[in-house]
Amino acid sequence: MSDCIFCRIAAGELPADIVHEDERVVVFKDIHPKAPVHLLVIPRQHIPSLRELTPEHDALVAHMVRLLPRLAEAQGLKDGFRTVVNTGPGGGQEVFHLHFHLLGGKRLPGMA
Ligand code: 5GP
Ligand code: ZN
Repeated sequence: MSDCIFCRIAAGELPADIVHEDERVVVFKDIHPKAPVHLLVIPRQHIPSLRELTPEHDALVAHMVRLLPRLAEAQGLKDGFRTVVNTGPGGGQEVFHLHFHLLGGKRLPGMA
């Protein structure tokens, strides 16, 4: 059994509020939402962070990125949404399984 919590969610070993899944990705609600809509988009494959991506992952990454606006639309985020990817401890990453945060549903603060 994996000790990675996101691998365990993808395998159905840990519960999560899943809103979308397909053969390559699983999308579920963040357990501590920072906005009215806060989803996590993860690959089924264990990739620790953006740093470990190789050209072999290009189709997977494109699939994840192209999924984002479709998920936002399905969540009713008509005005737009924010995508965040934290990388490494210095970037605030806490779970070392690649994930895109998708946030929206209220006016989000600026990045400055
Ligand atoms: P990071 O800081 O690594 O970019 O983001 C990790 C995110 O995963 C955090 O927003 C945190 O709330 C979320 N998270 C951590 N553990 C769990 C969990 O067991 N279930 C869910 N649904 N989200 C989690
Ligand atoms: Zn994992």
